[in-house]
Amino acid sequence: MKKEDFALKCRDMAELVTPYLEGALPLRKRLAARLHLRLCTACRNYVEQVRRTIRFLGGGPPPRPPENENDIIALLDARAPDR
Ligand SMILES: [Zn+2]
Repeated sequence: MKKEDFALKCRDMAELVTPYLEGALPLRKRLAARLHLRLCTACRNYVEQVRRTIRFLGGGPPPRPPENENDIIALLDARAPDR
């Protein structure tokens, strides 16, 4: 895994937020998004705002976070060759 995969910018995050909330992102992008959200308050607020909007509009299924997400991140971290 390349380091750039995790280097999401806020601009990228804005594009990913809808598929992210719909659970439509591939695992790697999803983890990158999670990581960015962990580090970035602005995007966290933005995602929360979009999430509420989606719920309000009654679109899409509710987002379902993976149960063992931290394990997956740890696993990917451990396997990253360029740390
Ligand atoms: Zn951000």
